[in-house]
Amino acid sequence: MAADAGGALTGDLVIRARRVVTPDGTRPATVRVSGGRIAQVGPFGGDQASGAGRGGGAGPGPDGAPVVTLAGDEVLLPGLVDTHVHVNEPGRTDWEGFASATRAAAAGGITTIVDMPLNSIPPTTHAGALRIKREVAAGRVHVDVGFWGGAVPGSTGWLPGLVGAGAFGVKAFLIDSGVPEFPPLDRDGLVAVMERAAALGSPVLVHAEDAALVGSAPGPAGHGYGAFLRSRPAAAEVAAIAAVIEAARRTGASAHVLHLSAADAVPLLAAARREGAAVTAETCPHYLALAAEDIPDGATEFKCCPPIRERANRELLWAALRDGIIDCVVSDHSPCPPELKRRGGGDFGAAWGGISSVQLALPVVWTGARRRGFSLDDVARWMAAGPARIAGLAGKGAIAPGRDGDLVAFAPDDGFVVDPARLYHRHPLTPYAGARLDGVVRRAWLRGLPVPAERPGGRLLARGEAAG
Ligand SMILES: [Zn+2]
Repeated sequence: MAADAGGALTGDLVIRARRVVTPDGTRPATVRVSGGRIAQVGPFGGDQASGAGRGGGAGPGPDGAPVVTLAGDEVLLPGLVDTHVHVNEPGRTDWEGFASATRAAAAGGITTIVDMPLNSIPPTTHAGALRIKREVAAGRVHVDVGFWGGAVPGSTGWLPGLVGAGAFGVKAFLIDSGVPEFPPLDRDGLVAVMERAAALGSPVLVHAEDAALVGSAPGPAGHGYGAFLRSRPAAAEVAAIAAVIEAARRTGASAHVLHLSAADAVPLLAAARREGAAVTAETCPHYLALAAEDIPDGATEFKCCPPIRERANRELLWAALRDGIIDCVVSDHSPCPPELKRRGGGDFGAAWGGISSVQLALPVVWTGARRRGFSLDDVARWMAAGPARIAGLAGKGAIAPGRDGDLVAFAPDDGFVVDPARLYHRHPLTPYAGARLDGVVRRAWLRGLPVPAERPGGRLLARGEAAG
C-alpha cells in the first residue's frame, strides 16, 4: 500500500488490549500493524503505547499511526476466515452479491471470505468464469475475497487452467446441487478429479451425501420437518464420506468434507486421520446451535442440506471439534430470495435449502461454545486459523508477525437479540430471528484499516500469491 504521512491510508495502526488472542494463548499485548501487516506483537505497556487513550480511546502513536486501546470488556481476535460463502454474483445477484455479502461479513468480524463456485452463473468451473467473477467483484468488496473453483462432469481438463488462474481448490458434489448448471460427479468422476487435483497440489472439497441413499429414502414433500430430516439420512453422509476418504487414499489428494452434519461420520474421519490420510472437515454454526427437535413444522428458514439433526448429534459435533476431528466452523452462507424459501406454504420439499449467517456466525458459535466450556482461543482456532490453513491462506487467520493486520474488537460478555432489520445480507430471512446471542463485534480492521468502510477496500486473493 502507498505510503501516507497521516497513516490513514497506509494500514498503519497500533492496538492495545488486555486480552489478545494469539496462537500461543490469550494475553495482554500491543499489536503494531505497519503497511497493512502485523509487524509486532509486543508487551501491553510497551513504548508504542505512549499517547494511547483509555477505554476505547484513540490517539496518534509516536510515528503517527493511530493508537486504539480496546475497552476493558473487549478482546482482540484475529479477523475470521469464512471459506464457505455463496455470493451468487453474477447470475443470481438477486440472491446475494459481493457488496452485500462482504459488508455483512465485515460487520460479523469476518475479514476474509472464499466464494463457492456455484449458484452464480456461470459457475466457476473454468478460468474464464473465474475471470468474470473477479471483474464483477473488483472494487466492491469490503473484506478480502478468494475463490474456490468447481468440478462437474466433463470439466476435469479445465482444472489446471482454473487453479492456474488463482482458484484455491475445487469443489464437487456427490448429489444434486440444487442448480442445473452444477451437476454432481459419480464415484469414478470424483477419483478422476482427485487425481488431477493431487497433481496440481490443490485440495478437493466435497458435498458428501450419497445420491442413491437419499434417492431411496422417503421424499421430503410437505411442511413437516421430521419428513425432511428422514429424506436426508445420516447414513447418506457416512457412505459418501467413506467414498471421499477412499478416493483421497487412492489418489493422494487432499480432501475436505464440507458442512459435516452427521456425527456418525466422525469415527471414519478420526480413523482416516490416524492413518495419515489428508482429509479435513468443517461444520457450520447451524449444526452446532440448532436442533431438529426444536424446528417447527413449516419453518423452511431452517432448511439446509445436509439437514440440521437431533440434539444428541449436535453434542457429538461439539465433541469432535474438541477432539480436533472437525477442523473448522464456517457459515455455508447460502441465501436466496424469500419466495424461494416458500415461507407461505412451508413446503420443505419445494423450499431452497440454505441458511444465511455470515454476519451472525461468530456470536452464534461463541454462544454455544462458552456454554460448553470452550474459550475464544478455541473459537479463533475453528473460525480463523483452521479455515486459513485449509484454504492455504498463509497471511490470514492469526495475530502474529507477518500476517495481515486483520483484527476484530469483540465483546464476549455483551449480547444482543437478532433483529433481521440489522442484517446486511441481501435477504434478512434467518432462523436466528429473535434469538439472544452472546458476543458483539464492536469494530473490525482489514490490513489495518477499519471495515466496513464507505469505500470498499477488500482485495481479491489468488492462490499462490505472496502472503498478504
Ligand atoms: Zn454451501
